[in-house]
Amino acid sequence: MIEQDIQNEIEIQTIEPLPAERLESVAGWGGAHSGMGYVYRPSTVAQLRELFQWAAANHRTIGLRGGGNSYGDAAMNDERIVLDLTRMNRILEWDPENGRIKLQPGVTLKRVWEYVIEDGWWVPVATGTAKITVGGGAAMNVHGKNAWKLGTFGDHIYEFDLMLPNGDIKTCSRKQNSDLFHAAIGGFGMLGCFTSLTLHLKRVYSGLVAVEALTKPNLGSTMQWFEDHLHNSDYLVGWLDAFSKGKRLGRSELHRGIYLKPGEDPNPAQTLRLETQKISPDIMGFFPRSALWRFQRPFWNNFGMRFVNIGKFYAARLKDGATYREPHAHFHFLLDSLDWKKPFGPGGLIQYQPFIPAENAEATFSQILQLCQQRGLPNFLTVMKRHRPDPFWLTHGLDGYSLAMDFRITNHNRARMVSLARELDEIVLGANGRFYLAKDSTLRPAVARAYLGEETVSKFIALKQKVDPQNLLQTNMYRRLFGSP
Ligand SMILES: Cc1cc2nc3c(=O)[nH]c(=O)nc-3n(C[C@H](O)[C@H](O)[C@H](O)COP(=O)(O)OP(=O)(O)OC[C@H]3O[C@@H](n4cnc5c(N)ncnc54)[C@H](O)[C@@H]3O)c2cc1C
Repeated sequence: MIEQDIQNEIEIQTIEPLPAERLESVAGWGGAHSGMGYVYRPSTVAQLRELFQWAAANHRTIGLRGGGNSYGDAAMNDERIVLDLTRMNRILEWDPENGRIKLQPGVTLKRVWEYVIEDGWWVPVATGTAKITVGGGAAMNVHGKNAWKLGTFGDHIYEFDLMLPNGDIKTCSRKQNSDLFHAAIGGFGMLGCFTSLTLHLKRVYSGLVAVEALTKPNLGSTMQWFEDHLHNSDYLVGWLDAFSKGKRLGRSELHRGIYLKPGEDPNPAQTLRLETQKISPDIMGFFPRSALWRFQRPFWNNFGMRFVNIGKFYAARLKDGATYREPHAHFHFLLDSLDWKKPFGPGGLIQYQPFIPAENAEATFSQILQLCQQRGLPNFLTVMKRHRPDPFWLTHGLDGYSLAMDFRITNHNRARMVSLARELDEIVLGANGRFYLAKDSTLRPAVARAYLGEETVSKFIALKQKVDPQNLLQTNMYRRLFGSP
């Protein structure tokens, strides 16, 4: 016993301190959560391994970070090591005949589509921002506006290399190390670090998408529209006015996108060029998009947003039924040209995105929207998508709908927001719904276990103990949801 104590004492004395010059502010994208972390930015696999080994030898923990676009604490590791992987950003192999691409984890989605589009390929899963890295996208198993049709990011990963905490690299695919494959995709960086990923891309025959824009007067007609168009669309997405009530509850602006077939674009060589895809930094040729937030800021409160939502709905109604062709990048990534979170102010925002089975979705979303209004916390931006199940262990996917809701956070409403989230959690669990770690910042361990299922959580934790016995890989989110080991 005494010998063990002496041994522990010697170990503690030989632990190297973390260098103060590495200390930086590390925040979730929403800005409502921030802390300080010791940030390292490896550029090679060898450096990554060295950092893993140094951290293990010095009893430190490591949180992995891609582009930092998760809204909450998924890529934060307060007062501990954060490995920012954005310098591991090389395109390793590209086969333009078959659309197969091998990438280092820090390559962004933007870099991928810009690299491949002139060869007639597009990213099969495009998130609302192209600033995410492929490593971060795989770790959260992200989805796009076509999730019901093409599934999630993981569905398009052919194989990946994963560096385990002991420095070994495992190649994983559906056939090889299949457990690790299905657990690390969506495994929020807790099993290892992706060092390369091979993806299958989507063939396109034009740089344009055919778009139809329309409005619906309430939640029921909005959801019926989705159901009616699942079979004949490539993308479906809805924006909902979260302030509307009564018969107008859930009224919406909807967009439907369809790929052009071979021959439908008279000049694909031109539309597939990068120049066609570029989003102009100015609105109407003179007003910088990046400055728009200055005009939005005074309206970004409950009073102003009511009018912004009404204005947006009626502006959309004026163009009801409009059809047009739009470059892929405009259709997916317009938000990237705006300083989207700035109008929310210094407290930032949190996003709450429940996933509800199709059969319960209308009643449950109706309850959720009304509860937010009753609590005086209507969400400012609300986006609806359709989904399908996937085979990944910690999946958020199901045969149903999600509603992504942005809430502004201030010193005055933070505590109320947390208690609203608690109430919403109960509604979602009661409807057999699921949650999404990329957006989460409020879930508690019991809720996470309830939606993921005890069996799945135990299986995941057992695999983590096997590949990471020292619990080297940790983040704030991991400690929040699965307890401090
Ligand atoms: C404006 C905006 C719009 C968005 N729209 C969508 C959307 O439409 N659909 C959607 O699904 N999501 C969406 N998101 C969320 C975003 O796609 C996810 O949070 C994504 O995981 C972010 O990727 P990232 O590279 O920024 O990773 P980070 O946020 O930095 O990290 C995400 C997770 O990945 C882990 N990780 C990072 N790199 C690695 C690696 N190399 N190996 C192992 N683990 C790693 C981290 O530990 C963390 O748990 C949106 C986010 C924003 C800001």
